[in-house]
Amino acid sequence: MEPMNYEVWFITGSQHLYGEETLKQVANNSGEIVDGLNQSPVIPVRLVHKPVLTTPDAITATMQEANAAEKCIGIVTWMHTFSPAKMWINGFRILKKSVLHLHTQFNRDIPWESIDMDFMNLNQSAHGGREYGFLLSRLRRNRKVVVGHWKDKGVQERVGSWTRAALAWHDWQGMRVARFGDNMREVAVTEGDKVEAQIRFGYSVSGYGVGDLVAVVNAVSDDRVDTQLALYAREYELAEDILEGGSRRSNLREAARIELGMKDFLENGGFKAFTTTFEDLHGLKQLPGHAVQRLMAAGYGFGAEGDWKTAALVRAMKVMGTGLEGGTSFMEDYTYHLDPSGMKVLGAHMLEICPTIASGKASMEVHELGIGGKEDPIRLVFDVNKGAGINVSIMDMGNRFRMLVNPCKVVEADQPLPKLPVARVLWEPEPDLPTAAAAWIHAGGAHHTGFSMAVNAEMMEDFADMADMEILMIDNETRIRDFKKEIRWNDLYYHLSDGLKK
Ligand code: MN
Repeated sequence: MEPMNYEVWFITGSQHLYGEETLKQVANNSGEIVDGLNQSPVIPVRLVHKPVLTTPDAITATMQEANAAEKCIGIVTWMHTFSPAKMWINGFRILKKSVLHLHTQFNRDIPWESIDMDFMNLNQSAHGGREYGFLLSRLRRNRKVVVGHWKDKGVQERVGSWTRAALAWHDWQGMRVARFGDNMREVAVTEGDKVEAQIRFGYSVSGYGVGDLVAVVNAVSDDRVDTQLALYAREYELAEDILEGGSRRSNLREAARIELGMKDFLENGGFKAFTTTFEDLHGLKQLPGHAVQRLMAAGYGFGAEGDWKTAALVRAMKVMGTGLEGGTSFMEDYTYHLDPSGMKVLGAHMLEICPTIASGKASMEVHELGIGGKEDPIRLVFDVNKGAGINVSIMDMGNRFRMLVNPCKVVEADQPLPKLPVARVLWEPEPDLPTAAAAWIHAGGAHHTGFSMAVNAEMMEDFADMADMEILMIDNETRIRDFKKEIRWNDLYYHLSDGLKK
């Protein structure tokens, strides 16, 4: 997804009382703000300056246009002057796009020497933004409010985070998720209500028999497999036994065929995310390992064991992180290091960790997989650089979906892991492992997550607001006693909230 192909409309509110001259000034000033924000490297989409809105009809017409504009992912609104907010009611009753309220003013400082009533007539956002804010609160409209001067880097970063979330939200609308096979039998957290998810989130999930995939895999030509093997040799360190003439070269040929077949299947069906399950591989010779890794690296969302919610989440996080340092992967809390002097989590999966988070060149290897009863699969093995990361999970709680977010610090392994044949990452969760894990478990957090070193907690919070989804943050502020209360209060809120919104 190329962010610069998308637009955010910058909408300035005012009214007629001020006269032509002032309104011209309002338009000029907002145009200058748009130009300034468009030069900011931290805002990945293009802001489009719209005419100043001064009547209910103009506001409603602009909202209708925004709904219909395929490239418009959301609107930024600014009240340079006072804009009586009853004028905005009809517009917001119909608007389907995400909203950011930029509570800024054209000038940063009060011009102490020169300030007069003309200045006061024009620069009114301090109270104009409140009138507008009242109406959105009265409508129970989720939106992001960013306060500060528009040239401030922090303000631009907050706008940028929101545009990233809006891109991902836009991407979910109409997105298709393919499920190869069904759920891993008897697993609870990967299940959920797909109809409810489609109603709330906009993406659809469709199941396919593995035979449908196998037919496409088997149709991949030997020539294409050869080309693919040459590409692997350039991109990775290949283990000796899968080099040309090696004893397990045929495993690599088969893996390449599976990758190309899966890619064909996903492209032909217009899918952006997919799931597999090792319990349902009928006709596939290997569990798709490196195929999943490489497709994730190409931008597909993925969830193992039929986990369609995580597949959709990983895709959303990949869209949010477009162009940023650090990658995004499907992840699973695998095993702990519980030494009190440095507790950490080892995250990994049987095979399916995305190489966008790899430090350096990944090695391509074949090893036995003691589960699933198939040919030994190919996988990419690598470590991950130190830095800030985040784990995110979405669960279906029965009456709502819940997002759980836990920032972490990615650290080096205490010692090398020479016998571990999978990609892995070690992290220290905020605020500490015992608190983070207890909070995660109280919240019913899944063992699968979207893990990212590109996306941050603010983007996830903005995204949850757009999706109108519950969000629970586990971070340095978290105390278990309060966290348990928050869960109970949220239960009550979500039981009542549909009524509150009517
Ligand atoms: Mn798993």
